[in-house]
Amino acid sequence: ASAALSRIGLAGLAVMGQNLALNIAEKGFPISVYNRTTSKVDETVDRARQEGSLPLTGQYNPRDFVLSLQRPRSVIILVKAGAPVDQTIAALSDHMEPGDTIIDGGNEWYENTERRIHQASEKGLLYLGMGVSGGEEGARNGPSLMPGGSLQAYNNIQDILSKVAAQVEDGPCVTYIGEGGSGNFVKMVHNGIEYGDMQLISEAYDVLKHVGGLNNSELADIFAEWNRGELESFLIEITADIFKVKDEEGGDGFLVDKILDKTGMKGTGKWTVQQAAELSIAAPTIAASLDSRYLSGLKEERENAASVLKEAGMSDDIASAARVGVDKKRLIDDVRQALYASKICSYAQGMNLLRAKSNEKGWNLNLGELARIWKGGCIIRAVFLDRIKKAYQRNPNLASLIVDPEFAREMVQRQAAWRRVVGLAISAGISTPGMCASLAYFDTYRRARLPANLVQAQRDLFGAHTYERVDRPGAFHTEWTKLA
Ligand code: NAP
Repeated sequence: ASAALSRIGLAGLAVMGQNLALNIAEKGFPISVYNRTTSKVDETVDRARQEGSLPLTGQYNPRDFVLSLQRPRSVIILVKAGAPVDQTIAALSDHMEPGDTIIDGGNEWYENTERRIHQASEKGLLYLGMGVSGGEEGARNGPSLMPGGSLQAYNNIQDILSKVAAQVEDGPCVTYIGEGGSGNFVKMVHNGIEYGDMQLISEAYDVLKHVGGLNNSELADIFAEWNRGELESFLIEITADIFKVKDEEGGDGFLVDKILDKTGMKGTGKWTVQQAAELSIAAPTIAASLDSRYLSGLKEERENAASVLKEAGMSDDIASAARVGVDKKRLIDDVRQALYASKICSYAQGMNLLRAKSNEKGWNLNLGELARIWKGGCIIRAVFLDRIKKAYQRNPNLASLIVDPEFAREMVQRQAAWRRVVGLAISAGISTPGMCASLAYFDTYRRARLPANLVQAQRDLFGAHTYERVDRPGAFHTEWTKLA
């Protein structure tokens, strides 16, 4: 009972919790840990001992856990999102006092956080919904942290968060995001952007493999080379590594070729697309990534479709026909440029979604600062995010990344290569939904006049919805069928 109190507590010791607790302890902040299944408490205590006698104390019930903390108490929860978070809060908050703080570090739906902020405030408790990105490695060595909710609660632990977060040259990868569920919302959009990046990289792979004829060791070299230029990022780096790994289950093949082509998902990408639709924000690249995951799941249907269409006369060989005359070196360079330009469009969509939500909720999100805290620790970390940060510093009200003068120039420089890649992929029958969606987004956004005039005419003809004119103000209706 005379033991010194811990500075902070962490409940939920699965992959993320265990590693984040060790990270906090390693930075010199005494921490108490707790998990419903207590064997994980022992496991964490053992790891803390092995990894250098870190200041970490195991607790075996909610009461002892809470009472082992300095006041005002701060408790991070890292359990499965949804009901487990409510159950954990119920178990802990009984022992907490006004002024204490609960910090949910899970991938939670932002409205759940807003409901819990309200419930916590009835007991005088403060609350943060904190997005944590970077997976296991990030949690242990420096994640990107996106805390939103009570500013007072953030200030109570700001010294801890800024040491625990990944460090980049312009500071730790953490900032106070805003009120309410903004931290969870920003993490959700981060994940949506991550879906886009992964889809675009997989399309680059598909084109290089099936049109360019590159093998895995060539792909490993190309991605490693790309990782030394403008595409330098965690996802490009791990992609290069993936192509090097041989299948250990015997045979001499590569593991990547043995992996079933069906993508899993946990919901944050779907939420991003749903929110984009709610707010009337076009996010076609992110939506294409989500759709690609859905279609990938239909493995048996796709196998059947392949054989039905083959029966119907579809040739196996359109990709090889398209390959004729392709200059491999140039294709590789074109794909690099197409990937980069497509990525800009995808980030433009994610950032515009964040701004629309910020306006709706009054969160006052600082988009440049969000780009900055994504530069390290998280899955989408990339050199390119520094350019996004600077674009919003130049103009915080930038309508779209596409019209930032630097990005505009980069996109114009890359558009010929981008169009060649997409055109070649289409004629080869290799679907590139992300790159196509990005290019169509660019071409739609940059055109001062679209065929929407015809849609308005149709709406007016069948539904008397009226239309506006380009040459004078007002709403007009025409009896089209009488005049036709
Ligand atoms: P997880 O598999 O999502 O959850 C397991 C943890 O939840 C265990 O500690 C488990 O306790 C606890 N739990 C489940 N139901 C519970 C209940 N009803 N009451 C109390 N505790 C309960 O763990 P994770 O992968 O470490 O992820 C934690 C959170 O971080 C999730 O929201 C996840 O989406 C998010 N996240 C994960 C990653 C990642 O790379 N894994 C990255 C970023 C964010 P028991 O041991 O007692 O079952």
